[in-house]
Amino acid sequence: MSTNQNNLPAIISHCKEYGFIFPSSEIYDGLSAVYDYGQWGVELKKNIKDLWWKSMVYMHENIVGIDSAIFMHPTIWKASGHVDNFSDPMIDNLDSKKRYRVDHLIEGFVENLDAEKGAQIIADMELLLAKDDFDGLKNMIVNLGIKCSVSNTCNWTNVRQFNLMFSTQLGSVAEESDTIYLRPETAQGIFVNFLNVQKTGRMKIPFGIAQIGKAFRNEIVARGFIFRMREFEQMEMQFFVRPGTQKEWYEHWKETRMKWHLALGIPQEKYRFHDHVKLAHYADAACDIEYDFPMGFKEVEGIHSRTDFDLTQHQLYSKKKMQYFDNDIDEATGKAFGNYIPYVIETSIGLDRTILMVLSEAYTEEDLSTAEKQDSRVVLKFPIKIAPIKLAILPLMKKDGLAEIAKELMQSCSEHFFCFYEEKDSIGKRYRRMDALGTPFCVTIDHQTKEDGTVTIRYRNSMEQERIHMNDVKELVMKSMH
Ligand code: ATP
Repeated sequence: MSTNQNNLPAIISHCKEYGFIFPSSEIYDGLSAVYDYGQWGVELKKNIKDLWWKSMVYMHENIVGIDSAIFMHPTIWKASGHVDNFSDPMIDNLDSKKRYRVDHLIEGFVENLDAEKGAQIIADMELLLAKDDFDGLKNMIVNLGIKCSVSNTCNWTNVRQFNLMFSTQLGSVAEESDTIYLRPETAQGIFVNFLNVQKTGRMKIPFGIAQIGKAFRNEIVARGFIFRMREFEQMEMQFFVRPGTQKEWYEHWKETRMKWHLALGIPQEKYRFHDHVKLAHYADAACDIEYDFPMGFKEVEGIHSRTDFDLTQHQLYSKKKMQYFDNDIDEATGKAFGNYIPYVIETSIGLDRTILMVLSEAYTEEDLSTAEKQDSRVVLKFPIKIAPIKLAILPLMKKDGLAEIAKELMQSCSEHFFCFYEEKDSIGKRYRRMDALGTPFCVTIDHQTKEDGTVTIRYRNSMEQERIHMNDVKELVMKSMH
């Protein structure tokens, strides 16, 4: 029997115990909402990055990638609106001094109500947020009698905005120094390089620029393991289009990105779109792709129609033209479209949230008990293409030349995919360990291998075993990775 409990505490401890994700600075009691990826976590992360990069860059001849610096000119954040607008409404409890994000506080309260009443409160909250009605939000909290989880009182301050950007100083001498920000999104690095890439890459609209990189946000209420971190990674793509065509492209990217999610083997019912009521200052349409995380449906990716806001702002602040010359003929006028600032559709997915999504989906506790004995296993049922280890090579014993044969197989496979070699412990124990790491295939080399060249291959999900020729192992694994 198999149960997918989607149990977050169990996933967190599994990640730590098996070398996927550790709390940052753990020997110093950790650093809140910051995490380190261990030896298997980093492989999982790399495989997801590669999958995204291939689907965006390699599979689209009109999309190229860049890697821009984290430090950027401070005026960029003034132009983008982040200095003035990148903030969340917060409220403090006067007794406990604990600070809450207003939407999180209300969402937390609603979790204990019946669904219909809860949905109404959330809808009301979204309207107040859309209008920046801070008094209305405070009244809502007071009228609902929402209490602080620490002091258990309703003694609240007014609702205020709190900027989420981290700042630091550039330069070592005070006079030379200037305040700069750790980027809160990778997108601006794409916008400021828009013309560099367009000109050097001879890109014709519509075209896209993709980037994977770190972003930093001073999240006040960081919770949900790697769901909300202060340092995280984003995989973003900005797609530049002719003004007036943005609606079609927005729909196109919604559909394309949902297909990518479904190709991870996650069923449709675990996803939903959430259209934004409150649009960011730069957007004319926006939605989230939400996944049914252990703590409920939450955003994993945002798709935003960003208009020409960013490029127009950079043109204004930098005084450099951000226009594109379109020599295609407009059928309506019979003339070239000419100069314009392109519109932009953005797809922005959190790498760490994607990792939490695939971990939540893969984590399975199975009861394997029979009438004779109690038994169970924890298995990570990753899609093969993202599994950290593809193949475990396990000689039954070290002696009798079995280790040498295993090493030979290891050598022939290692340049094609990641293999893991292990000769310690019983085969049963080694299989279970590989299940816990999500390894889809294990091969065992035994005495029969010496006679006829066959090995036992064991499949992670079904636990079935069969004998195949050693020479066929590489091919079998490679075929299954697509
Ligand atoms: P949220 O509403 O959850 O704070 P957001 O709407 O501010 O997210 P975006 O600015 O659209 O997020 O960022 C794009 C993506 O980056 C998100 O869909 C998410 O996957 C990821 N992301 C944003 N903030 C964080 C964070 N603090 N930790 C981890 N991932 C994040």
